[in-house]
Amino acid sequence: MAESWCKELWKKNVAYLGDRPAVIDRGRRLTHAELASRANRLYWALRSRGLEKGERVAILAYNCAEYLEWMQACEKGGFVGVPVNWRLSADNVAFVLDNSESKILLLHEDFVEPVSSIRPQLRNLEHLLVFDATSPPAIGEAYEEALATADSREPEVQMEDEDPAYIIYSSGTTGRPKGVVFTHHMQLESAKAHVTELGLTPQDVALVVMPLFHSGGHATASAIAYVGGINVLLPRFEARTVLEVLEQERVTFVQVVPTMIAALLEQPDLHRYRLDNLKTIQYVGAPMPQSLLEKAARFFGAHRFIQNYGLTENGPLVSTLSREDHLAGLREGASETARKRLGSVGRPHYGLWVRIVDDRGNELPRNTIGEIAVRAETTTPGYWKQQELTRKKIRDGWLFTGDIGLMDQDGYLYLVDRKDDMIVTGGENVYPSYVENVLCRHPAVKEAAVVGLPDEKWGEMVTAAVALWPETVATEEELLEHCKPHLAGYERPKRVVILQELPKSPTGKILRREVRRRLQEKAR
Ligand code: AMP
Repeated sequence: MAESWCKELWKKNVAYLGDRPAVIDRGRRLTHAELASRANRLYWALRSRGLEKGERVAILAYNCAEYLEWMQACEKGGFVGVPVNWRLSADNVAFVLDNSESKILLLHEDFVEPVSSIRPQLRNLEHLLVFDATSPPAIGEAYEEALATADSREPEVQMEDEDPAYIIYSSGTTGRPKGVVFTHHMQLESAKAHVTELGLTPQDVALVVMPLFHSGGHATASAIAYVGGINVLLPRFEARTVLEVLEQERVTFVQVVPTMIAALLEQPDLHRYRLDNLKTIQYVGAPMPQSLLEKAARFFGAHRFIQNYGLTENGPLVSTLSREDHLAGLREGASETARKRLGSVGRPHYGLWVRIVDDRGNELPRNTIGEIAVRAETTTPGYWKQQELTRKKIRDGWLFTGDIGLMDQDGYLYLVDRKDDMIVTGGENVYPSYVENVLCRHPAVKEAAVVGLPDEKWGEMVTAAVALWPETVATEEELLEHCKPHLAGYERPKRVVILQELPKSPTGKILRREVRRRLQEKAR
């Protein structure tokens, strides 16, 4: 086994780019040297509180500079980082901390109260370090004080490539969150894939608004940090603030989910912002309605867009729809092939194999729908303390993604849907994404979610919820009518419910399960 290289990347930044900015967290700016010095202090502060190599240290916070200090301290010190989703219920936060056996928790002042309420359940937790506290925190110690009294010497810890670096928990919309183990090797390989596919350089200024507790934000921030670029952190997505920061910090790269692009386009004074430096808008995580992409390209320009498909278990990147693909498909007079490819998630990136398989895991021919399986250097070794699930999802080195799709003759991958979200109505399979895309082609529809509601006659009844663009109107009848020419009878929604807004995950993905719950409640 080789020795982990991640820690060398942090050190290298200090050696060669020491006085250049590394992190911008609203009013705070840290150079690579300052970030490293604070991370080293954190390492010694954790050591002096009894944390050993391989033990878990969790963080519960919005995106902030302390997050990067914690990452660097974990990677250089051999601790295993557990980023906690701050949108989880207190009960699930307790589950994550307990399941990971986290010994120390770093937390933002805002979470002191909820954590106090679950403190008795946290059997392994020995210390809490609170940052951004205005007065002595109600529980634990002040983070800044712990750092102030700690050494800033560089840690000297031996780590292997296969040692775990993080456990990243899924959001747990069904059952308990599942911990995906990220090794040092995955971290490095994932960063290489990001640098290669997105063309990241030390000159890049990346706006990280996707949460750092999620694999998307985590992997982007890691890649930018390793390459020596600047991570501009925002605690949460708010369209106006995002536009202001893009302009003020001369951001070159931003990662978003499609719903965030819709929110940016909704801003009435969008044209006011100077976004000349913005080279890349990377969109990830959820299907992009073609109509939204076209609208976005008209404003931002097709040359700025890159799409990635991925999943936490693969660290996360799997495939890329490149800038060139966007330029080819979005230009006037584009060929039919080029336009069609905009509906794909691009080609598998350089570092992995993709197969489409049937229920027994046999590879299917091109242009045939099946489950997407991947094999890569970035694939997780498994789920934390979940051997059975690991055996089910990772077989002979292949990760079974739970995504349904097909690959065409040119290697472009088309996602059809999540295996679990497929609707079976009257014995026919309906893929919600396909129906959502049709609904989004109506000029008034901003976003759509299609679910199956239990129904005596059909088994499941195709039902849609939509949110409309501001200052537009559409009736349920009109939307049903709009679907008619584009969908088979069984695929058409039996009902379309217009909602003010669709429920979203902290990463901005539309939550179909939550939509189903609300529609069921309405139907009662
Ligand atoms: P997560 O592990 O939370 O990042 O979620 C991964 C899932 O998000 C994948 O299995 C897909 O179902 C979905 N997903 C990721 N990227 C895309 C994309 N570009 N287009 C459509 N769905 C995506």
